[in-house]
Amino acid sequence: MSAVIMDGKALAAKVKSEVGAQVAQMARKPGLAVVLVGDDPASRVYVNGKKRDCGECGIYSEEYALPAETTQQELLELVETLNGREDIDGILVQLPLPKHLNEKEVLLAIQPDKDADCFHPFNVGELMIGENGFQPCTPAGVMRMLQEYGVDPAGKHCVIVGRSNIVGKPQAMLMLRKNATVTICHTKTRDLKAECLRADILVAAAGRAGLITGDMVKEGAVVIDVAMNRNEAGKLCGDVDFAAAAEKASYITPVPGGVGPMTRAMLMENTLYAARKHGKQ
Ligand code: NAP
Repeated sequence: MSAVIMDGKALAAKVKSEVGAQVAQMARKPGLAVVLVGDDPASRVYVNGKKRDCGECGIYSEEYALPAETTQQELLELVETLNGREDIDGILVQLPLPKHLNEKEVLLAIQPDKDADCFHPFNVGELMIGENGFQPCTPAGVMRMLQEYGVDPAGKHCVIVGRSNIVGKPQAMLMLRKNATVTICHTKTRDLKAECLRADILVAAAGRAGLITGDMVKEGAVVIDVAMNRNEAGKLCGDVDFAAAAEKASYITPVPGGVGPMTRAMLMENTLYAARKHGKQ
């Protein structure tokens, strides 16, 4: 079998244009505040991308580029100010924060109805009990891709490699919601290959280049590669040996151009969702 390549870039453009069309109808525009502390180059690239996406969607955006020596108190005060502002619907604090700052405390300070990343324990809890609400951008982007390509997770065995709070665990919840049978793998999983070979839908989110080889993919499986690694040549790559897996899979996502752009598009959806929640029409 030669797999259909799931085009995250094209689908993200479609999602953003749908968000843009809705925003264009609104009298009060959604607003997103992005907070960056320090000068991590990768974080700077992500923040620039988010600002660009906002521009494309007609979403008002504001950037706070704070120096690396910003104190916890200063950061919390900024979050508190943004919590109180009517023109700001979503607050995103770009992670990772410099080591001297307490990430957990900062994320907790963001008002749950402005938590566009869906990292606040309240929203994580809602996700767990199956309430509608914010969905974390990366796992939500994966679900949207499956939907777009007509892959229904119901009754399928979904194997997720990775159990982080931002990808693996919420991905499992969203798959469960769509009636998949879910297995979550991690570094203590005894036989990763055997688990992966049982997957109708395989989601790789370990952050280890080359971890998923072609012989770990079942014939006809849907392979979603969430990871963004650099190989020895410095080139962006996922966890999956793309060429080998594509021989077996029915559908597969590329890296780059797969889940990454979808993650960004879902942030725009979440900001729109927050604005609607705040009564903006
Ligand atoms: P993380 O917090 O480092 O979690 C990695 C998970 O993978 C852990 O649960 C770890 O298991 C598991 N793992 C690592 N090596 C493994 C192995 N050899 N066998 C089995 N499991 C293994 O990473 P993350 O934040 O979830 O991100 C995962 C990847 O996705 C990274 O490449 C990241 O850059 C990428 N990512 C992409 C997007 C996007 O927009 N496309 C968004 C977020 C993240 P333990 O729990 O046992 O340590």
